Order: sequence, then structure tokens, then C-alpha cells
Amino acid sequence: MAKGKINVAVDNIFPLIKKFLYSDHEIFLRELISNATDATLKLKHLSSIGEFKGNLDDVKLEIKIDKEGKKLHIIDQGIGMTKEEVKKYINDIAFSGAEEFLDKFKDEKNDSGIIGHFGLGFYSSFMVSKDVEIITKSYLEGEDAAHWVCDGSPEYTLKKSNKKDRGTEIVLHIDDDSLEFLEESKISELLAKYNKFMPIPIKFGTKEIADPTHEPKTTKDKNGKETTEDQKMITVDNIINNPNPAWTKQPNELKDEDYKSFYHELYPMQFEEPLFHIHLNVDYPFNLTGILYFPKLTTNLDAQKDRIQLYQNQVFVTDNVEGIVPDFLQMLRGVIDSPDIPLNVSRSYLQTDGAVKKIASYITKKVGDKLSSLFKNDREEFEKKWNDIKIVIEYGMLSEPKFFDKAQKFALYPTMKNEFLTFDELKEKIKPAQTDKDGNLVVLYASNAEEQHSFIEEAEAKGYEVLLLDSPIVSHLIQKIEGENSELSDKKQPVKFARVDSDSLDKLIPKGDDPVSKLDEKDQERLKGIIEEIVPKEKYTVQLEAMDSKSNPFIITQPEFMRRMKEMQQTGGGGGMMGMGNFPEMYNLVVNTNSDLMQKILKAKAKRTEYVNQALDLARLSQNLLQGKEMTEFIKRSYDLMKG
Ligand code: ADP
Repeated sequence: MAKGKINVAVDNIFPLIKKFLYSDHEIFLRELISNATDATLKLKHLSSIGEFKGNLDDVKLEIKIDKEGKKLHIIDQGIGMTKEEVKKYINDIAFSGAEEFLDKFKDEKNDSGIIGHFGLGFYSSFMVSKDVEIITKSYLEGEDAAHWVCDGSPEYTLKKSNKKDRGTEIVLHIDDDSLEFLEESKISELLAKYNKFMPIPIKFGTKEIADPTHEPKTTKDKNGKETTEDQKMITVDNIINNPNPAWTKQPNELKDEDYKSFYHELYPMQFEEPLFHIHLNVDYPFNLTGILYFPKLTTNLDAQKDRIQLYQNQVFVTDNVEGIVPDFLQMLRGVIDSPDIPLNVSRSYLQTDGAVKKIASYITKKVGDKLSSLFKNDREEFEKKWNDIKIVIEYGMLSEPKFFDKAQKFALYPTMKNEFLTFDELKEKIKPAQTDKDGNLVVLYASNAEEQHSFIEEAEAKGYEVLLLDSPIVSHLIQKIEGENSELSDKKQPVKFARVDSDSLDKLIPKGDDPVSKLDEKDQERLKGIIEEIVPKEKYTVQLEAMDSKSNPFIITQPEFMRRMKEMQQTGGGGGMMGMGNFPEMYNLVVNTNSDLMQKILKAKAKRTEYVNQALDLARLSQNLLQGKEMTEFIKRSYDLMKG
């Protein structure tokens, strides 16, 4: 037996390892399983080039818990190590790797993102163990097996072992403060988290299944009564992983059903079907594979739970892909796997890394291409899905200029009549009726079909098209589209968006042929005075207008600009408007001077206040603004007016 001392610069590296990444102690298992996988893959490679002749069809890894002995075993059938290799790889290389790693990152905070996901390797086993043993036999003929033991100090022993089969067994003598790692449930959880798709089968325990080679016989007795034999059960290895997950295959090997079932394999608690998938597959100038899914975003809650998972050669790294996947695509689900994403760096560094930037723009491009082709090849399906995917697309249009350009061809604008138009189609369609006297094309929209019902109806009666734009970031988007189509841009016709309830229609789309007012100027002034005296000044600006006599007498509107800025402020980033403070609740009270009610208000003295208040309340009611005391008063007044 040989005793040795690992050549270390600092004696206290082991306590450091124990403390390091306190919250991340569990990664030791992933590190050891990665090593075992690598050792097996190396042997497979040797076999493929004829350097190894044995049969590798059934190679697997095994994880075993010995609860009484307080030991955890990680066993592989890979290339193994000779005594010399243990000295070299474990004492020297692995150690210096760990030392270097700690030295580099000891000043970094534990939570600095992606750091710590990789790098500590074999020595991370000391985070949870008192002693670690390596029992290993090289694939090379005639080499003795070796047995290395280390108690976490720089001293180790290395002796011959009588291990007969090829491969490596790591035995962890679990520390008293880490006994959770002897619980089957804990290990199962970790295996499911990190190793679900590793390329070599991993055995953890056994399970009983019905014997597939045995068909239970049914026999009849003399009375004709049937009896069926018991199903024969057999014990088989419990393999916890799928070594060939969908993303490692070529798109032409997979059917739609395969993509769907992989989605559920990835997110077992997710019962909704994904809307569609995007298979990523690139090997130059970087390596990346993966499958992204557009989910039906039902609640914000599952958006947080089921996120895109990042793998490196089928080893789970993280489900926080911030900095790698563009923000607007983080609402998607699925997997990306790339050996080219540097993992031992902070997230802020990631964002400036050239390779990572290329990855992000590749993903953006692929998503754009997929959406384009869905739109072109099956527009009907695309329209059906629009409401579920629009948030992602609109967010992308706002945040990625290249995506904006591409998306302009497939982004849809649904009308109240349930037609889904592209921007070009929309312009074409509304141009004749909705060009105002100054040549602007005015796009009318509503954000809520119920709440803005009377306004929508009025606009449609005039032959105008009203869009339903109801996503939370729409005010930002229309601001941007207006900018792209302003007088200053080279586009032919300037485009303006206006919500149907932001002014009277004659003001929203002025045609220069304003109807004449039935009231003369004197009466108009009187009327304005009367109304202003009754309605609360701090909230309503009275604005007389000669409209169609059949239009409502009073209309409450909120100017487009004010409302839009307020919405943009609420959803973040007000386009330089942040310093303006909170916008007050201010409305316009548009008074239709051609309505018959105005004559009544002018003439009636006794009931004048009631009429004005009643008309104001009805206008409030149609804008969902009537509540509380005002509502109570309105009801009472309505009954009183009925009494006459
Ligand atoms: P890394 O895996 O990053 O190289 P580790 O500290 O995890 O660093 O391991 C150091 C070396 O020890 C490996 O590169 C490998 O040569 C050897 N090694 C570790 N585990 C095994 C194993 N299960 N079978 C064969 N060799 C191994």
C-alpha cells in the first residue's frame, strides 16, 4: 500500500470545497455521473475505432444507496483507470483543476448566476463526504485494479484492488450533515433534475414488470368456467433516464407526435399541448441543438415553473436562460443544448460574449423563420393560434429590430368581425374610408369589446373597421408602428392609431365636412355654461360638437395620447415619459349640439340639472365609469324621472 500526499499549495482547500457553493452541494452527483458518462463514452469511441473489442451494447451506470453503511456508490463500466492514471488524473489534474477553480471564483458571490454550474468536477464529492474511495480497473488488458482512499485532507492511500470487472466505482462515505443524500427520494429527485436525458442508461434500483415473454393462459373447467393464470412478474433494472431524447435526433426522424410526447416528457406536470415546435440544429459557427415550443400561455404561474432548460451534452445545467435566449423568447419552453456556452462566467459576462450573442440571434432568426412558414403554409391554423402567440411576437417586435422587420409580414391585426389582417392588408382595406382630410390613415381599435361596445357600434355604423388589440403591451407597439409610418419616414401614407373611445368619430377621422350645428353661437355658449356649472370641472373638459342627431348626446372620451402614455408607464418604459409623473384621471365630455336633448336642457329650468346629470351618468355608464355613490344617485334619479 502506498501512502501519499497530494501536492497542494494551500492546505485548506478541502474545507473550502465544503463551504463552496453551499446551496449547490447537490451538484456533486451530477459531476460524478458526468465523469462516469464520459468514461463510458470514451470507451465507446475506442470501440468505434477498433481499439476496444469488447461488447458495449448493455453498458450502463449504476447508483446505489447503502443506507446502513452510510455510503453512496456511483458505478460505471467505462474505460477505468490504472494506478498511474489515478495518480495523474485524480491527484494531480483533478486536484489542480479544483484548486484553480476555487482560486478563480472564491471572491465571487454564490448567486452570481451561472458560475458554479460546472468546473469543480470529482472533488465536489468532498462537499458531502467524509471519505471518498475510488475502485477502478482499466479497460487495458493486464493492468491491476486500483483502490484510492482519501479522507478530505491532502493525504491519500493508493493500493491494489481485486476488482474484476472493467470500470470505476466511486464510494462516498456520506458526512453526517449530508445524510439527505442517502434518501432514495432525494437521489431520485436529483437524477430527474440533472440526468434525465444523459446519453448512457442510468440504473437506480429495480422494479417489477409483467413478463413480456409470458402470456397468461386461460383454461376452462368442466363447467365451462374460465380461469386465467396470474401474470408472471419479473424484476428488471430501473432505468431513470432517456439516453436518446428527441433533440439529439434529426428532424426528419421525428413526427409531430414525437415532438408532443417529448414535451410531456420534459414537463410531466404540463397537460396542455404545445402550439408548435421549432427544432434547432446548427454546427457552425457554434454547436447548438434543441427544440423550442410555443406553449399556450394560460397563467403566469406555469410560465415561471416550466422554463427553457439549458443542457450541455445532455447534462442539465440550468433553467435560467437569461442572457442566452433573448428576453422575448423566455416565455417559450423546451431545451437547448450547446457545448459552446461558457458556463463558468457570470450572466453579465454572458451578455457580452460573442458566441452567446450569435446563439441568441440564431434562435431569434429560427423563431422568425418558423412563424413565417407557419403563416405562409397554413394561414388558417396560424390565425387560430394568433391570440395565444401574439404576446411573444409583439414583445419580439418591440425588442428586436430584425424580428420586427420579419414579423411585419405575419403579425396579425384582428378586426371585430374576426378577420385577421396583416398590416398591409389592413391598410389596403381601410384606406378608402379611414383616410382623414390631411391624408393620414387612421386605424381605429378597441381594447375591450364589451366595455367599448357603444363606441365600436357607432364606428361600425359609419363603415369603419375596428380592431381588437387587447394585449398589455399594445400601446408600446402602436407607438412604434406609428413611428415607422410617420410623415418623416419614407412610407407613403402616415398612419395613426386611435382607440374608438378616445374622441368623437368626427374628430378621430376628420373629413372636413363637419355637419352644421343646429344651435346658433349664442345658444352654444349658453349650453356650455349650463353644463360646465353642473359637471365636476376637475374631471371633465366640456367640448361642444355638432354630430349626427342620432348619436348619443353626451360621450366621455379619454384622449389617445394621455391614455397611451399612462398605459406605457404602467407596463414599463414610457419612451422618455417617465419623468412626467402620474397622469391625472382626465376626460373629455363631448356634447352633441345636434341632439334633441340639448333643446330640452336649454329650455327646461326645473329639471335642467337632472337632465345634465342623467346624461352624464349614462355616458359614464357606457364607459364603465359609474360606481359607488354616483351609481346610487343615478338609480334614484332614474326612478324620480320616471315618476315625471
Ligand atoms: P474533469 O472531468 O473536468 O476532467 P474531474 O476532476 O471530474 O475533472 O476528473 C479528473 C479526471 O479524472 C477526468 O478527466 C478523468 O480522466 C478522470 N476520471 C474521473 N472520473 C472517472 C471515471 N469514472 N472513470 C475514468 N476516469 C475518471
